[in-house]
Amino acid sequence: MTCEGAAVNKKERKRKEMKETNNQPKFQDRLLHCIDCDTDFIFEAGEQLYFASKGLTVPRRCNKCRAMRKASIAQNGEKVEWQ
Ligand SMILES: [Zn+2]
Repeated sequence: MTCEGAAVNKKERKRKEMKETNNQPKFQDRLLHCIDCDTDFIFEAGEQLYFASKGLTVPRRCNKCRAMRKASIAQNGEKVEWQ
């Protein structure tokens, strides 16, 4: 009987460790949809970390459209509404 009890305790502890590991904040690649070119793009974990550190929200445009938008703003010298 005592042996069984020990085995259960060990199992419980292992489960708890696993849960704690899963709770750690971790960025994963996400699939987002671009509102400009209407295609899906990957929002990489590294980018998410960068955006989070800058306090930015999730991008609504893919890298290509964002770059194009930035370029056109620079060209026109106008202040265009960003989002
Ligand atoms: Zn796009």
